[in-house]
Amino acid sequence: MIKVKKRKFLLLAGDGVGPEVVGEVKKIIKWLNTNRSLDFEIDEDLVGGASYDKYGTPITDEAYYKALESEVVILGAVGGPKWENLEFSKRPERALLRLRKELKLFANLRPAICFKQLVEASTLKPEIVSGLDIMIVRELTGGIYFGEPRGIKPIDNGERKGINTHTYTTSEIERVARVAFDLARKRKNKVTSCEKSNVMEAGQLWKEEVQALHERDYKDVELSHMLADNCSMQLLRNPKQFDVIVTDNLFGDMLSDQASMLTGSLGLLPSASLGAKNKDGEMRAMYEPIHGSAPDIAGKGIANPIATILSFAMALRYSLDLDKEADALEKAVQNVLDDGLRTKDIMSKGTKEVSTSQMGEAIIAYLQK
Ligand code: NAD
Repeated sequence: MIKVKKRKFLLLAGDGVGPEVVGEVKKIIKWLNTNRSLDFEIDEDLVGGASYDKYGTPITDEAYYKALESEVVILGAVGGPKWENLEFSKRPERALLRLRKELKLFANLRPAICFKQLVEASTLKPEIVSGLDIMIVRELTGGIYFGEPRGIKPIDNGERKGINTHTYTTSEIERVARVAFDLARKRKNKVTSCEKSNVMEAGQLWKEEVQALHERDYKDVELSHMLADNCSMQLLRNPKQFDVIVTDNLFGDMLSDQASMLTGSLGLLPSASLGAKNKDGEMRAMYEPIHGSAPDIAGKGIANPIATILSFAMALRYSLDLDKEADALEKAVQNVLDDGLRTKDIMSKGTKEVSTSQMGEAIIAYLQK
């Protein structure tokens, strides 16, 4: 059994813009070590296409063991056209699935926040999205992406049949619902649980178990149930009605992508994937921006590092209980945006374009203040 080492960070920068954006987080960690005496230990390794190019596998056992003993894993992004035609097991994305599965990261937290400075970047009307702050909690290790039986098989009439199985157990539903209720208590105290209980038995079970847990342990939190298709509509119609949304792997995949686009800026959105706490209160966790490796802009020094920096802020808050430092970092990002500094992807009239590293340095300058 590999023990989690307190305050050990593993940086897996990955492919494309990954190394550029994770590089800015590394600067911030070093700054915190020097100026706030936080004593974080940093280790690094290859993942995704970069690992395949060197070792012939998207993640080596060594990198994976390092992840197992790290309190926090920060991941940049993996993938790109160079590796698209590899066989399934060698593809960069397999590294992510292995990490999520083996670290048992069952809860994926995706905040969708609309920065007031960037409200014009959304395709929705400013009054619909301005001030938006919702958190989607997606179950990450169960449901149809992992259920058995699965596969493609020939059938009698010469056709083929594709099979996937959607399953959830009481404990799988309860542990992710607990994460959602606990988060809501620190926010606006409201949880919306989404499923398709009208047409799926697994959805009916989801609804019943969330309701039962609520009655047992979380009566103080406001709970409502919503069908996932309605939730998708409501996210466009009136997204500010939501605080925390909890849902399964499949619906969470789609609803969280939809919610992130309400904000109009992929380069700004962080995410966290959390495991269960052990009896010593230790938890494995991985933090990553929601964007991919952006091969079209890789190597140009223009990628927006804010999503990765805010993912690191989530690590400070959820893994290390350093709320003060997380607040300071989030505030520094706001200040830099208030000053009109923008990477290319979020440029608008009257703002000043900065590079990836200038953005990171401007954020550190505000931490200094
Ligand atoms: P993408 O998120 O990489 O890029 C979509 C668009 O957003 C591009 O125009 C890109 O330039 C822009 N963009 C993304 N991140 C940005 C940033 N930080 N700053 C400025 N602009 C940014 O999605 P894609 O193009 O669909 O995928 C590219 C590769 O990334 C694929 O191989 C895909 O499989 C992979 N991918 C990886 C992850 C991950 O590692 N978690 C997630 C999604 C996609």
